[in-house]
Amino acid sequence: MSRRRGPAFRSGRLRASGATKRSAREKGQQVSAGRHVVVVGGGLAGITAAIALREAGASVTLLEARPRLGGATCSFTRDGLVIDNGQHVFLRCCSAYRGLLARLGMTGAVSLQDRFDVTVLGPGGRARLRRNRLPGPLHMGQALAGYSFLSLAERLRVTRAALAMMRLDPAAPGLDSERLGDWLAARGQGERARRVLWDLFTVSSLNVAGDDASMALAATVVQTALLGARDAADIGVPAVPLGDLHGKAGALLLKRLGAEVRLSAKVAAVQAVAGGGFLVRLTDRGAGTGAKHMVNGDSAPATPLIPNGNHGAARLSPPGGRVGGPQIHAGALPSDGGGAGGPQIHADGPVVHADGIVLAVPPDAAARLTPAAAAAGASPGPERWLELGASPIVNVHVIYDRRVTRLPFAAAVDSPVQWVFDRTRSSGLRAGQYLAVSLSAADDLVDVPAAGLRERFVPALEDLFPAARDARITDFFVTRERRATFRQVPGCAGMRPGAATALPGLVLAGAWTDTGWPDTMEGAVRSGLNAARELRRGLAAAPPPSGRRAGLVAGATA
Ligand SMILES: Cc1cc2nc3c(=O)[nH]c(=O)nc-3n(C[C@H](O)[C@H](O)[C@H](O)COP(=O)(O)OP(=O)(O)OC[C@H]3O[C@@H](n4cnc5c(N)ncnc54)[C@H](O)[C@@H]3O)c2cc1C
Repeated sequence: MSRRRGPAFRSGRLRASGATKRSAREKGQQVSAGRHVVVVGGGLAGITAAIALREAGASVTLLEARPRLGGATCSFTRDGLVIDNGQHVFLRCCSAYRGLLARLGMTGAVSLQDRFDVTVLGPGGRARLRRNRLPGPLHMGQALAGYSFLSLAERLRVTRAALAMMRLDPAAPGLDSERLGDWLAARGQGERARRVLWDLFTVSSLNVAGDDASMALAATVVQTALLGARDAADIGVPAVPLGDLHGKAGALLLKRLGAEVRLSAKVAAVQAVAGGGFLVRLTDRGAGTGAKHMVNGDSAPATPLIPNGNHGAARLSPPGGRVGGPQIHAGALPSDGGGAGGPQIHADGPVVHADGIVLAVPPDAAARLTPAAAAAGASPGPERWLELGASPIVNVHVIYDRRVTRLPFAAAVDSPVQWVFDRTRSSGLRAGQYLAVSLSAADDLVDVPAAGLRERFVPALEDLFPAARDARITDFFVTRERRATFRQVPGCAGMRPGAATALPGLVLAGAWTDTGWPDTMEGAVRSGLNAARELRRGLAAAPPPSGRRAGLVAGATA
């Protein structure tokens, strides 16, 4: 696993600048409007790939199973408040994600610290981890020296272990098979240091119990964020609901770019066609007939949300016929439809023709949808993608009738609370205070009923925020994401495929693919950029299907 340079955002376009230097020819690859790309999945990876490919000149259709874009980052309303499915944070070093925010015009909709500054609360005590202006890794020295939850001897041992971690190569063979807890213990990190310092950052960023994390991913996080550039770990939080930040902003930008976005459009199968191209079959439900789509909070009819403009984007046809643009039709597949790529598609939903496919769906869906010709010889193959498994995140939401803390967020030790965020403003709450407790690696909590979580977390919050003892709770609820991320444990690196598959026109995206990053928003955006770059290369190599307009134009890149 390697760290990669961040993608650049220049000239108003999203661009990938991967680890490897791109050739001049590759930089110049533009996809002609005649080539139609279908992006399956409208999470951050799919949104990013769709924008990048549309900007590269392809005609783009994005198919998303749910009635909104944004994937694992979403919001819902409850009693007039807008609630996120789970608190999300990012760091200043998340250059690709921040590039996407800029492209979406949403940089001003997040709040990014001007310097890393975390208050750590414990029952009866607190500490402040705040970087200074020295260059990394010296910028964290003073914060660690004053970290009162550890003894002086423990702090010195932490420094030695941190310096040893800095020297690791996350891509070194064997590092991914090591457990973080074992590595730390072997370097003098006792139970206390692991729980009240290392866990603060590794559990929330890797979403597995700290000791169980993959050492390679932990080293990536610590080196890139905590011990990297001075400002790398400055923390950013959304100032608006996630649904606005990503989903609605993504839909609006794609519309402006002339891409087609179809919501409630679930893909049932993808088939490679002999002679080139693909057929994408939607489920009957995925046709979107009669479904309502949410864009900008308004219900819109199931007609294409995003007008075609003159870009040749696909339209959906009614059953049995072929209407509108050339790429989507319904009914039986052409009789020569099989051959090149895996199982025949027998479902009855509408069919979309594509020259290129980005599968930006979770690993189980990707394994199901990848045609055999793309899966064959893949290393790792789809059966290994499934071994990535899933790890839950639970958020406990508590609304008080008054303010109980002035902190925008805090971490906690010696408490069941891990991190707690003030969500008052971003949710639209006008009186009182709304706190969201974010609980990563929540295997033990995900099935606990709300009443049980209330019994546990209300007193814990009172221990951290004494003012909460005098406050009345006006609402308490829980959000549970059972498959929040894959399990970032030893061995996971060997289960993450790259973007390319054996079929040059079909690529993979998603935070679970091999980005070198943990399963995060940054990883998702990087994967979308990797996929777009790979597909441009693949479409350049593959001849256009016979009878269709010719393919690529190599020209000045954007
Ligand atoms: C509660 C929670 C908290 C998190 N906290 C953080 C955080 O603080 N910081 C951070 O960086 N990351 C965080 N993450 C992780 C982050 O949200 C994910 O890594 C990222 O959003 C994944 O994006 P993606 O596009 O790869 O996948 P997804 O968001 O899963 O998108 C995949 C999309 O594919 C669609 N799809 C699936 N099957 C089909 C089909 N057959 N046809 C059409 N569409 C289909 C799905 O509906 C979905 O929209 C958190 C995640 C959760 C759930």
